Amino acid sequence: MDLQSILNDIAAEMAAAPDRGKVADYIPELASVDAKRFGIAVALPDGRCMTAGDAEVAFSIQSVSKVFTLALALGRLGDQLWARVGREPSGLPFNSILQLEQENGIPRNPFINAGALAVTDAILAGHQPKELLGELLRFVQTSAEDADIHINEAVAQSETEHGDRNMALAHFMAAHGNLSNRPELTCGTYFHQCAIEMTCRQLAMAGRFLAGGHGAPHMISPQRVRRINALMLTCGHYDASGDFAYRVGLPGKSGVGGGILVIAPGRASIAVWSPGLNRHGNSQLGTLAVERLAQATGWSIFG
Ligand code: GLN
Repeated sequence: MDLQSILNDIAAEMAAAPDRGKVADYIPELASVDAKRFGIAVALPDGRCMTAGDAEVAFSIQSVSKVFTLALALGRLGDQLWARVGREPSGLPFNSILQLEQENGIPRNPFINAGALAVTDAILAGHQPKELLGELLRFVQTSAEDADIHINEAVAQSETEHGDRNMALAHFMAAHGNLSNRPELTCGTYFHQCAIEMTCRQLAMAGRFLAGGHGAPHMISPQRVRRINALMLTCGHYDASGDFAYRVGLPGKSGVGGGILVIAPGRASIAVWSPGLNRHGNSQLGTLAVERLAQATGWSIFG
């Protein structure tokens, strides 16, 4: 299989795609990103990495960061984490507050905003935000084997200024006794984790611990890897998780910056980036590109 030429074909198709979706505009730093950007990277377990398009341009990973905090949280708290957050798809947009009241402040899963706030809050307890963010960055840098991965402070600041909705989620959980830190502290930490910037190459490399296979970095136990992949498949694309599973057949986690991390267990870790989003807040061309990649390679967890 000639992966490089598959990626070249996909990048060429995406460069010509007329409907690129809509770039997130809730903060100026994301609104100003060029909608024409497209990058894709496939990292094999042993660290060989093939790329096409803008795969060396850093973008805001946003909600893809939720995968890394979940890995840290499971390592630190184990199954105790599940007292604070569920493991079911929500069927609602990523920033919805609707179920929180009906379900007594316990978010449906760790990948919607409320759930990610609960996860970040859980690992923040007893630590300074700076300390935790340092640990998170080291985790990402170690799994990517690349120290040149940073947080964009301007993005984090802007998220804080436009953070009413996330603050509302945090306050709501606090009212239900499901927050250990002040909402400002938990949200501030969460905004910083979302503001991590990575290139497609770095993100694909960083995801190898979830792909496993010979030569992949061992960051967490194989059982936890399987479980995070299960959650990515069922919840990683919010209310479009079913559609992503149907079209791509692999676990994936999207971010509102237009990035998606996709795992082909035992085979590869894939990162794709195109800033235009579909109506569910997932990268429009990113989804199409990994659908094409799955078709061309035959990679699927469904046989
Ligand atoms: N920082 C974004 C938010 O909290 C992340 C959401 C996302 O990427 N879907 O709204």
